[in-house]
Amino acid sequence: MDGVHKGQCECGAVAFTVKGARDTVAVCHCAQCRRISGHIWSSTHAAYDDVTFTRDEGLTWYAASDWAKRGFCKDCGSSLFYRLNNEDGIGIAAGCLDGPTGFKISKHIFVADKGDYYDIVDGVPQIEQS
Ligand SMILES: [Zn+2]
Ligand SMILES: [Zn+2]
Repeated sequence: MDGVHKGQCECGAVAFTVKGARDTVAVCHCAQCRRISGHIWSSTHAAYDDVTFTRDEGLTWYAASDWAKRGFCKDCGSSLFYRLNNEDGIGIAAGCLDGPTGFKISKHIFVADKGDYYDIVDGVPQIEQS
């Protein structure tokens, strides 16, 4: 899908457009994503060069591990991006995109780490790790 999507954090201090994002969404149940997001972190993916920031004064990157960083808004706390340090792409939170996206969840990952307070019942493939 090569449509253009708009996204932003809750307060608007980070806003962007992205073209050519995948029309699929991966839902990550790992402990880090659950802490960062407050529940589960769901993201699409695009080439970083296809993301254009119209506002980025709130954008801050957190070194989440030796291999990846997470982008969030320092003003409102919205969890927005995930990026491996060596990748050309970027994971973009599905929830920050304006709808309708036309996207569909394609997989659940790190389900071995999922919380015990919910069930995954949508019939989409579940992967123990990534
Ligand atoms: Zn914000
Ligand atoms: Zn995760």
